[in-house]
Amino acid sequence: MANGNPIPYKIFLTENEIPSFWYNLRADMKNKCAPLLNPETHKPMTSAELEKVFCKELVRQELDDTTRLIPIPEEIRDFYHMYRPSPVVRAYCLEKAIGTPAHIYYKFEGNNTSGSHKLNSAIAQAFYAKKQGLIGVTTETGAGQWGTALAMSCAYLGLDLKVFMVKISYEQKPGRKEVMRTYGADVTPSPSTTTNVGRRILEAFPGTNGSLGCAISEAVEYATTHEGYRYVLGSVLNQVALHQSIIGLEAKAALDKYNVRPDIIIGCAGGGSNLAGLIAPFMGEKINGMSDAKFIAVEPASCPSFTRGSFAYDYCDTGKVCPLAKMYTVGSQFIPSPNHAGGLRFHGMSPILSQLYHDGMLEARSVEQTSVFEAAEFFARTEGILPAPESSHAIRVAIDEAMKCKKTGKEKDILFGLTGTGYFDLSSYRKFNDGEMSDSIPTDEEIAKALTQLPQVE
Ligand SMILES: *Cc1c(COP(=O)(O)O)cnc(C)c1O
Repeated sequence: MANGNPIPYKIFLTENEIPSFWYNLRADMKNKCAPLLNPETHKPMTSAELEKVFCKELVRQELDDTTRLIPIPEEIRDFYHMYRPSPVVRAYCLEKAIGTPAHIYYKFEGNNTSGSHKLNSAIAQAFYAKKQGLIGVTTETGAGQWGTALAMSCAYLGLDLKVFMVKISYEQKPGRKEVMRTYGADVTPSPSTTTNVGRRILEAFPGTNGSLGCAISEAVEYATTHEGYRYVLGSVLNQVALHQSIIGLEAKAALDKYNVRPDIIIGCAGGGSNLAGLIAPFMGEKINGMSDAKFIAVEPASCPSFTRGSFAYDYCDTGKVCPLAKMYTVGSQFIPSPNHAGGLRFHGMSPILSQLYHDGMLEARSVEQTSVFEAAEFFARTEGILPAPESSHAIRVAIDEAMKCKKTGKEKDILFGLTGTGYFDLSSYRKFNDGEMSDSIPTDEEIAKALTQLPQVE
Protein backbone atom coordinates (compact mmCIF):
# COMPACT_ATOMS: atom_id res chain seq x y z
CA MET A 1 0.00 0.00 0.00
CA ALA A 2 1.13 3.50 -0.78
CA ASN A 3 -1.03 6.58 -0.52
CA GLY A 4 -3.73 4.19 0.66
CA ASN A 5 -3.82 2.47 -2.74
CA PRO A 6 -2.48 -1.02 -3.31
CA ILE A 7 0.34 -1.07 -5.83
CA PRO A 8 -0.81 -2.76 -9.04
CA TYR A 9 1.13 -5.47 -10.80
CA LYS A 10 1.92 -3.01 -13.56
CA ILE A 11 2.32 0.71 -13.20
CA PHE A 12 1.70 2.36 -16.55
CA LEU A 13 2.08 5.98 -17.45
CA THR A 14 -0.34 7.46 -19.95
CA GLU A 15 1.01 8.36 -23.39
CA ASN A 16 0.89 12.03 -22.44
CA GLU A 17 3.25 11.26 -19.59
CA ILE A 18 6.02 10.02 -21.89
CA PRO A 19 8.85 12.43 -21.01
CA SER A 20 9.35 15.33 -23.41
CA PHE A 21 12.95 15.91 -22.28
CA TRP A 22 15.95 13.66 -21.84
CA TYR A 23 17.84 14.22 -18.61
CA ASN A 24 21.56 14.87 -18.92
CA LEU A 25 23.00 13.57 -15.63
CA ARG A 26 26.41 15.06 -16.47
CA ALA A 27 24.99 18.52 -15.73
CA ASP A 28 24.59 17.49 -12.08
CA MET A 29 27.77 15.46 -11.68
CA LYS A 30 30.31 17.04 -9.34
CA ASN A 31 33.25 15.54 -11.22
CA LYS A 32 32.75 15.65 -14.96
CA CYS A 33 33.90 12.88 -17.29
CA ALA A 34 37.34 13.29 -18.82
CA PRO A 35 37.22 14.41 -22.47
CA LEU A 36 37.53 12.02 -25.42
CA LEU A 37 41.06 12.15 -26.87
CA ASN A 38 42.35 11.92 -30.40
CA PRO A 39 43.92 8.41 -30.65
CA GLU A 40 47.02 9.77 -32.39
CA THR A 41 47.74 13.16 -30.83
CA HIS A 42 46.14 12.43 -27.43
CA LYS A 43 44.62 15.96 -27.52
CA PRO A 44 40.93 16.41 -26.68
CA MET A 45 38.78 15.65 -29.70
CA THR A 46 37.31 18.77 -31.26
CA SER A 47 33.76 18.92 -32.63
CA ALA A 48 35.18 19.12 -36.14
CA GLU A 49 37.16 15.90 -35.65
CA LEU A 50 34.20 14.09 -34.10
CA GLU A 51 31.89 15.24 -36.89
CA LYS A 52 33.91 13.24 -39.40
CA VAL A 53 32.75 10.10 -37.59
CA PHE A 54 29.47 11.04 -35.89
CA CYS A 55 26.42 13.15 -36.79
CA LYS A 56 26.63 16.84 -35.90
CA GLU A 57 23.80 17.03 -33.40
CA LEU A 58 25.00 13.87 -31.69
CA VAL A 59 28.47 15.38 -31.31
CA ARG A 60 26.85 18.38 -29.64
CA GLN A 61 25.04 16.07 -27.22
CA GLU A 62 28.22 14.07 -26.65
CA LEU A 63 30.16 17.13 -25.55
CA ASP A 64 27.38 18.88 -23.61
CA ASP A 65 27.94 18.40 -19.90
CA THR A 66 25.99 21.45 -18.72
CA THR A 67 22.44 21.36 -20.18
CA ARG A 68 20.27 19.40 -17.73
CA LEU A 69 17.20 18.87 -19.88
CA ILE A 70 17.35 18.34 -23.62
CA PRO A 71 14.03 18.41 -25.51
CA ILE A 72 13.09 15.19 -27.33
CA PRO A 73 12.17 16.16 -30.91
CA GLU A 74 8.51 15.61 -31.82
CA GLU A 75 9.43 13.04 -34.53
CA ILE A 76 11.31 10.90 -32.01
CA ARG A 77 8.47 11.17 -29.53
CA ASP A 78 6.06 9.98 -32.26
CA PHE A 79 8.17 6.85 -32.66
CA TYR A 80 8.43 6.39 -28.86
CA HIS A 81 4.62 6.42 -28.81
CA MET A 82 4.57 3.17 -30.83
CA TYR A 83 6.19 1.16 -28.04
CA ARG A 84 6.36 3.36 -24.96
CA PRO A 85 5.72 4.03 -22.15
CA SER A 86 7.14 0.74 -20.90
CA PRO A 87 5.68 -0.64 -17.69
CA VAL A 88 7.16 -0.79 -14.22
CA VAL A 89 6.16 -4.21 -12.90
CA ARG A 90 5.83 -5.11 -9.26
CA ALA A 91 7.28 -8.61 -9.09
CA TYR A 92 4.74 -9.97 -6.59
CA CYS A 93 5.18 -13.55 -7.82
CA LEU A 94 8.96 -13.41 -7.57
CA GLU A 95 8.76 -11.89 -4.07
CA LYS A 96 6.45 -14.69 -2.98
CA ALA A 97 8.64 -17.41 -4.48
CA ILE A 98 11.68 -16.00 -2.66
CA GLY A 99 9.68 -15.40 0.53
CA THR A 100 11.20 -11.96 0.93
CA PRO A 101 9.74 -8.93 2.68
CA ALA A 102 11.45 -6.79 0.02
CA HIS A 103 9.36 -5.13 -2.67
CA ILE A 104 10.81 -5.83 -6.09
CA TYR A 105 10.07 -3.71 -9.15
CA TYR A 106 11.40 -4.00 -12.66
CA LYS A 107 11.27 -1.69 -15.63
CA PHE A 108 10.63 -3.86 -18.69
CA GLU A 109 12.19 -2.67 -21.96
CA GLY A 110 11.62 -5.83 -24.01
CA ASN A 111 8.23 -4.89 -25.50
CA ASN A 112 9.42 -4.16 -29.03
CA THR A 113 10.71 -6.28 -31.91
CA SER A 114 14.38 -5.50 -31.21
CA GLY A 115 13.69 -7.05 -27.82
CA SER A 116 15.63 -4.49 -25.81
CA HIS A 117 16.08 -0.91 -24.66
CA LYS A 118 18.43 -0.17 -27.58
CA LEU A 119 15.59 1.19 -29.70
CA ASN A 120 15.43 4.26 -27.42
CA SER A 121 18.77 5.49 -28.71
CA ALA A 122 18.62 3.92 -32.20
CA ILE A 123 15.65 6.04 -33.24
CA ALA A 124 17.27 9.18 -31.87
CA GLN A 125 20.56 8.58 -33.66
CA ALA A 126 18.85 7.66 -36.94
CA PHE A 127 16.68 10.79 -36.68
CA TYR A 128 19.69 13.12 -36.36
CA ALA A 129 21.44 11.36 -39.26
CA LYS A 130 18.37 11.85 -41.44
CA LYS A 131 18.02 15.48 -40.38
CA GLN A 132 21.62 16.08 -41.43
CA GLY A 133 20.76 14.79 -44.91
CA LEU A 134 22.95 11.67 -44.76
CA ILE A 135 22.42 8.65 -47.02
CA GLY A 136 23.00 6.14 -44.28
CA VAL A 137 24.80 4.98 -41.15
CA THR A 138 27.13 2.14 -40.21
CA THR A 139 27.41 0.25 -36.98
CA GLU A 140 28.52 -2.93 -35.27
CA THR A 141 26.36 -5.44 -33.47
CA GLY A 142 27.25 -8.30 -31.17
CA ALA A 143 24.26 -10.30 -30.06
CA GLY A 144 22.16 -8.40 -32.60
CA GLN A 145 19.78 -6.32 -30.48
CA TRP A 146 21.44 -3.05 -31.40
CA GLY A 147 21.63 -3.91 -35.10
CA THR A 148 17.95 -4.84 -35.06
CA ALA A 149 16.95 -1.68 -33.23
CA LEU A 150 18.89 0.44 -35.67
CA ALA A 151 17.49 -1.46 -38.66
CA MET A 152 13.97 -0.75 -37.41
CA SER A 153 14.80 2.94 -36.99
CA CYS A 154 16.50 3.28 -40.39
CA ALA A 155 13.59 1.53 -42.12
CA TYR A 156 11.17 3.94 -40.44
CA LEU A 157 13.15 6.99 -41.59
CA GLY A 158 14.36 5.72 -44.98
CA LEU A 159 18.10 5.52 -44.23
CA ASP A 160 20.60 2.97 -45.53
CA LEU A 161 22.25 0.79 -42.87
CA LYS A 162 25.48 -1.25 -42.99
CA VAL A 163 25.90 -3.56 -40.00
CA PHE A 164 29.16 -5.32 -39.11
CA MET A 165 28.11 -8.27 -36.99
CA VAL A 166 30.58 -10.12 -34.74
CA LYS A 167 31.29 -13.29 -36.70
CA ILE A 168 30.47 -15.79 -33.98
CA SER A 169 27.05 -14.15 -33.42
CA TYR A 170 26.48 -14.04 -37.19
CA GLU A 171 26.97 -17.79 -37.25
CA GLN A 172 25.21 -18.63 -33.99
CA LYS A 173 22.26 -16.26 -34.37
CA PRO A 174 21.18 -16.48 -38.01
CA GLY A 175 17.67 -15.47 -36.90
CA ARG A 176 18.92 -12.06 -35.81
CA LYS A 177 20.51 -11.47 -39.17
CA GLU A 178 17.23 -12.24 -40.94
CA VAL A 179 15.33 -9.78 -38.76
CA MET A 180 17.83 -7.06 -39.68
CA ARG A 181 17.62 -7.95 -43.37
CA THR A 182 13.85 -7.85 -43.18
CA TYR A 183 14.16 -4.23 -42.06
CA GLY A 184 16.46 -3.58 -45.02
CA ALA A 185 19.90 -3.63 -43.36
CA ASP A 186 23.00 -4.96 -45.09
CA VAL A 187 24.73 -7.36 -42.65
CA THR A 188 28.42 -8.38 -42.94
CA PRO A 189 30.19 -10.83 -40.59
CA SER A 190 33.18 -9.17 -38.88
CA PRO A 191 36.13 -9.29 -39.29
CA SER A 192 35.52 -9.01 -43.04
CA THR A 193 37.62 -8.40 -46.10
CA THR A 194 35.63 -5.27 -46.98
CA THR A 195 37.76 -2.95 -44.80
CA ASN A 196 41.49 -2.44 -44.31
CA VAL A 197 41.23 -2.96 -40.58
CA GLY A 198 39.21 -6.15 -41.10
CA ARG A 199 41.83 -7.53 -43.47
CA ARG A 200 44.59 -6.59 -41.02
CA ILE A 201 42.86 -8.36 -38.12
CA LEU A 202 42.16 -11.45 -40.25
CA GLU A 203 45.80 -11.61 -41.18
CA ALA A 204 46.97 -11.32 -37.58
CA PHE A 205 44.33 -13.69 -36.15
CA PRO A 206 43.18 -16.13 -38.83
CA GLY A 207 40.05 -18.00 -37.81
CA THR A 208 39.12 -15.40 -35.16
CA ASN A 209 35.51 -15.35 -33.94
CA GLY A 210 35.52 -11.57 -34.05
CA SER A 211 34.76 -9.17 -31.25
CA LEU A 212 32.74 -6.03 -30.70
CA GLY A 213 35.89 -3.93 -30.67
CA CYS A 214 36.87 -5.28 -34.06
CA ALA A 215 33.42 -4.77 -35.61
CA ILE A 216 33.47 -1.17 -34.32
CA SER A 217 36.76 -0.53 -36.13
CA GLU A 218 35.28 -1.84 -39.37
CA ALA A 219 32.08 0.19 -39.10
CA VAL A 220 34.04 3.37 -38.35
CA GLU A 221 36.33 2.81 -41.31
CA TYR A 222 33.41 2.23 -43.65
CA ALA A 223 31.66 5.41 -42.48
CA THR A 224 34.73 7.61 -42.75
CA THR A 225 35.63 6.36 -46.22
CA HIS A 226 32.13 6.63 -47.75
CA GLU A 227 30.53 9.97 -48.59
CA GLY A 228 27.15 10.55 -46.90
CA TYR A 229 27.69 7.99 -44.11
CA ARG A 230 28.38 8.36 -40.42
CA TYR A 231 28.98 5.83 -37.69
CA VAL A 232 26.57 5.27 -34.80
CA LEU A 233 27.22 3.35 -31.58
CA GLY A 234 24.66 1.61 -29.39
CA SER A 235 26.25 2.02 -25.98
CA VAL A 236 29.16 3.51 -23.99
CA LEU A 237 28.88 7.08 -25.34
CA ASN A 238 27.40 9.94 -23.34
CA GLN A 239 24.78 10.63 -26.04
CA VAL A 240 23.48 7.05 -25.69
CA ALA A 241 23.25 7.38 -21.91
CA LEU A 242 21.33 10.61 -22.50
CA HIS A 243 18.74 8.96 -24.78
CA GLN A 244 18.39 6.05 -22.37
CA SER A 245 17.47 8.44 -19.55
CA ILE A 246 13.91 7.93 -20.79
CA ILE A 247 14.01 4.59 -18.92
CA GLY A 248 14.79 6.21 -15.58
CA LEU A 249 12.50 9.18 -16.10
CA GLU A 250 9.53 6.94 -16.84
CA ALA A 251 10.41 4.59 -13.97
CA LYS A 252 10.63 7.49 -11.53
CA ALA A 253 7.37 9.06 -12.74
CA ALA A 254 5.60 5.70 -12.31
CA LEU A 255 7.02 4.99 -8.84
CA ASP A 256 6.34 8.59 -7.72
CA LYS A 257 2.63 7.96 -8.30
CA TYR A 258 2.76 5.49 -5.41
CA ASN A 259 5.36 7.31 -3.35
CA VAL A 260 7.85 4.49 -3.86
CA ARG A 261 11.45 5.59 -3.46
CA PRO A 262 13.73 2.68 -4.34
CA ASP A 263 16.46 1.87 -1.79
CA ILE A 264 18.47 -0.22 -4.26
CA ILE A 265 18.65 0.21 -8.03
CA ILE A 266 20.28 -2.56 -10.05
CA GLY A 267 21.17 -2.91 -13.70
CA CYS A 268 23.35 -5.04 -15.92
CA ALA A 269 26.31 -3.27 -17.45
CA GLY A 270 27.85 -4.05 -20.82
CA GLY A 271 28.76 -0.66 -22.18
CA GLY A 272 26.58 0.85 -19.48
CA SER A 273 23.81 2.55 -21.44
CA ASN A 274 20.73 0.98 -19.86
CA LEU A 275 22.13 1.35 -16.38
CA ALA A 276 23.15 4.96 -16.94
CA GLY A 277 19.64 5.64 -18.26
CA LEU A 278 17.81 3.79 -15.50
CA ILE A 279 19.69 5.41 -12.65
CA ALA A 280 19.92 8.94 -14.12
CA PRO A 281 17.12 10.77 -12.26
CA PHE A 282 17.65 8.75 -9.07
CA MET A 283 21.40 9.42 -9.14
CA GLY A 284 20.67 13.11 -9.77
CA GLU A 285 18.74 13.13 -6.48
CA LYS A 286 21.56 11.34 -4.69
CA ILE A 287 24.15 13.80 -6.00
CA ASN A 288 21.96 16.65 -4.80
CA GLY A 289 21.61 15.12 -1.33
CA MET A 290 17.94 14.20 -1.73
CA SER A 291 18.35 10.43 -1.51
CA ASP A 292 20.74 7.81 -0.21
CA ALA A 293 19.76 5.07 -2.62
CA LYS A 294 22.32 2.40 -3.45
CA PHE A 295 23.19 1.68 -7.08
CA ILE A 296 24.64 -1.61 -8.29
CA ALA A 297 26.15 -2.35 -11.71
CA VAL A 298 26.27 -6.05 -12.55
CA GLU A 299 28.80 -7.38 -15.01
CA PRO A 300 29.86 -10.85 -16.14
CA ALA A 301 32.81 -12.43 -14.33
CA SER A 302 34.19 -13.25 -17.78
CA CYS A 303 34.42 -9.58 -18.79
CA PRO A 304 34.91 -7.69 -15.50
CA SER A 305 35.60 -4.07 -16.55
CA PHE A 306 34.55 -2.45 -13.25
CA THR A 307 35.57 -5.08 -10.75
CA ARG A 308 38.96 -6.01 -12.18
CA GLY A 309 39.76 -3.35 -14.79
CA SER A 310 41.70 -0.09 -14.60
CA PHE A 311 40.31 3.46 -14.71
CA ALA A 312 42.36 4.74 -17.62
CA TYR A 313 42.26 6.12 -21.11
CA ASP A 314 41.72 3.31 -23.58
CA TYR A 315 40.71 2.65 -27.15
CA CYS A 316 37.03 1.89 -27.68
CA ASP A 317 37.88 -0.57 -30.45
CA THR A 318 40.38 -3.32 -31.25
CA GLY A 319 41.69 -1.54 -34.35
CA LYS A 320 42.54 1.59 -32.32
CA VAL A 321 40.84 4.00 -34.73
CA CYS A 322 38.21 5.40 -32.34
CA PRO A 323 38.74 8.25 -29.86
CA LEU A 324 40.20 7.33 -26.50
CA ALA A 325 37.80 7.37 -23.58
CA LYS A 326 38.67 7.44 -19.89
CA MET A 327 36.83 4.52 -18.44
CA TYR A 328 37.06 1.29 -16.49
CA THR A 329 38.53 -1.19 -18.94
CA VAL A 330 40.11 -4.61 -19.13
CA GLY A 331 41.98 -3.48 -22.25
CA SER A 332 40.86 -3.08 -25.86
CA GLN A 333 42.69 -6.26 -26.85
CA PHE A 334 40.80 -8.33 -24.26
CA ILE A 335 38.39 -10.83 -25.80
CA PRO A 336 36.13 -12.76 -23.42
CA SER A 337 36.27 -16.54 -23.55
CA PRO A 338 34.15 -17.99 -26.38
CA ASN A 339 32.19 -20.12 -23.92
CA HIS A 340 30.79 -16.92 -22.41
CA ALA A 341 27.14 -16.85 -23.54
CA GLY A 342 25.69 -14.00 -21.62
CA GLY A 343 26.43 -10.89 -23.68
CA LEU A 344 27.93 -7.78 -22.02
CA ARG A 345 31.23 -8.48 -23.74
CA PHE A 346 32.53 -4.96 -24.29
CA HIS A 347 35.98 -4.39 -22.74
CA GLY A 348 35.25 -0.87 -21.48
CA MET A 349 32.46 0.99 -19.72
CA SER A 350 30.48 4.22 -20.07
CA PRO A 351 32.68 7.17 -18.99
CA ILE A 352 29.73 8.54 -16.99
CA LEU A 353 29.30 5.33 -14.99
CA SER A 354 33.07 4.98 -14.72
CA GLN A 355 33.36 8.41 -13.13
CA LEU A 356 30.47 7.69 -10.74
CA TYR A 357 32.04 4.37 -9.76
CA HIS A 358 35.39 6.03 -9.26
CA ASP A 359 33.70 8.63 -7.02
CA GLY A 360 32.05 5.92 -4.91
CA MET A 361 28.50 6.74 -6.04
CA LEU A 362 27.95 3.39 -7.71
CA GLU A 363 28.85 -0.18 -6.67
CA ALA A 364 29.69 -3.06 -8.98
CA ARG A 365 29.42 -6.84 -8.74
CA SER A 366 30.54 -9.51 -11.12
CA VAL A 367 28.56 -12.71 -11.49
CA GLU A 368 29.23 -16.07 -13.14
CA GLN A 369 27.10 -17.14 -16.04
CA THR A 370 25.75 -20.39 -14.57
CA SER A 371 24.34 -18.44 -11.62
CA VAL A 372 22.97 -15.86 -14.08
CA PHE A 373 21.09 -18.54 -15.99
CA GLU A 374 19.82 -20.05 -12.72
CA ALA A 375 18.35 -16.64 -11.91
CA ALA A 376 16.96 -16.36 -15.46
CA GLU A 377 15.21 -19.71 -15.14
CA PHE A 378 13.78 -18.86 -11.72
CA PHE A 379 12.52 -15.54 -13.05
CA ALA A 380 10.97 -17.08 -16.18
CA ARG A 381 9.15 -19.64 -14.06
CA THR A 382 7.84 -17.13 -11.54
CA GLU A 383 7.25 -13.89 -13.50
CA GLY A 384 6.57 -15.46 -16.89
CA ILE A 385 8.92 -13.36 -19.02
CA LEU A 386 11.84 -15.14 -20.72
CA PRO A 387 14.68 -12.73 -19.92
CA ALA A 388 17.70 -11.91 -22.05
CA PRO A 389 20.92 -13.32 -20.56
CA GLU A 390 22.21 -9.74 -20.25
CA SER A 391 19.18 -8.68 -18.22
CA SER A 392 19.52 -11.80 -16.09
CA HIS A 393 22.70 -10.41 -14.57
CA ALA A 394 20.51 -7.77 -12.93
CA ILE A 395 17.93 -10.40 -11.94
CA ARG A 396 20.70 -12.40 -10.22
CA VAL A 397 21.68 -9.51 -7.98
CA ALA A 398 18.06 -8.41 -7.39
CA ILE A 399 17.34 -11.92 -6.09
CA ASP A 400 20.53 -11.87 -3.98
CA GLU A 401 19.50 -8.56 -2.43
CA ALA A 402 15.96 -9.81 -1.80
CA MET A 403 17.45 -12.89 -0.06
CA LYS A 404 19.43 -10.59 2.21
CA CYS A 405 16.19 -8.81 3.11
CA LYS A 406 14.69 -12.19 3.94
CA LYS A 407 17.48 -12.76 6.46
CA THR A 408 17.30 -9.32 8.02
CA GLY A 409 13.52 -8.88 7.71
CA LYS A 410 13.99 -5.50 6.02
CA GLU A 411 11.26 -4.28 3.65
CA LYS A 412 13.49 -2.64 1.09
CA ASP A 413 12.27 -1.34 -2.27
CA ILE A 414 14.40 -2.84 -5.03
CA LEU A 415 14.22 -1.63 -8.62
CA PHE A 416 16.01 -3.37 -11.47
CA GLY A 417 16.20 -2.94 -15.21
CA LEU A 418 14.79 -5.84 -17.24
CA THR A 419 16.41 -4.75 -20.47
CA GLY A 420 15.05 -7.37 -22.83
CA THR A 421 13.82 -10.79 -23.82
CA GLY A 422 15.81 -13.91 -24.59
CA TYR A 423 14.15 -15.44 -27.66
CA PHE A 424 17.33 -15.21 -29.70
CA ASP A 425 19.45 -16.70 -26.94
CA LEU A 426 17.93 -20.14 -26.97
CA SER A 427 21.20 -21.83 -27.89
CA SER A 428 22.61 -20.47 -24.62
CA TYR A 429 19.52 -21.64 -22.76
CA ARG A 430 19.97 -25.04 -24.42
CA LYS A 431 23.52 -25.27 -23.07
CA PHE A 432 22.28 -24.37 -19.62
CA ASN A 433 19.38 -26.85 -19.78
CA ASP A 434 21.71 -29.63 -20.96
CA GLY A 435 24.15 -28.92 -18.15
CA GLU A 436 26.85 -27.94 -20.65
CA MET A 437 27.37 -24.40 -19.47
CA SER A 438 30.55 -23.60 -17.58
CA ASP A 439 32.04 -20.47 -16.09
CA SER A 440 35.16 -18.93 -17.49
CA ILE A 441 36.93 -16.34 -15.44
CA PRO A 442 40.01 -14.67 -16.91
CA THR A 443 43.21 -15.09 -14.93
CA ASP A 444 45.01 -12.08 -13.43
CA GLU A 445 47.75 -12.66 -16.01
CA GLU A 446 45.31 -12.45 -18.91
CA ILE A 447 43.88 -9.17 -17.68
CA ALA A 448 47.30 -7.76 -16.85
CA LYS A 449 48.47 -8.68 -20.33
CA ALA A 450 45.55 -6.91 -22.02
CA LEU A 451 46.17 -3.87 -19.80
CA THR A 452 49.77 -3.57 -20.99
CA GLN A 453 48.25 -2.44 -24.30
CA LEU A 454 46.65 0.67 -22.80
CA PRO A 455 47.74 3.82 -24.63
CA GLN A 456 50.33 5.87 -22.71
CA VAL A 457 48.46 9.10 -22.05
CA GLU A 458 50.35 11.83 -20.16
C1 LIG B 1 22.85 -4.44 -25.32
C2 LIG B 1 22.10 -4.99 -24.19
C3 LIG B 1 22.54 -4.82 -22.87
C4 LIG B 1 23.84 -4.16 -22.50
O1 LIG B 1 24.08 -2.90 -22.99
P1 LIG B 1 24.25 -1.63 -22.04
O2 LIG B 1 24.73 -0.57 -22.96
O3 LIG B 1 25.19 -1.98 -20.96
O4 LIG B 1 22.90 -1.33 -21.53
C5 LIG B 1 21.76 -5.29 -21.85
N1 LIG B 1 20.62 -5.95 -22.10
C6 LIG B 1 20.16 -6.16 -23.36
C7 LIG B 1 18.89 -6.90 -23.55
C8 LIG B 1 20.89 -5.67 -24.44
O5 LIG B 1 20.43 -5.87 -25.67
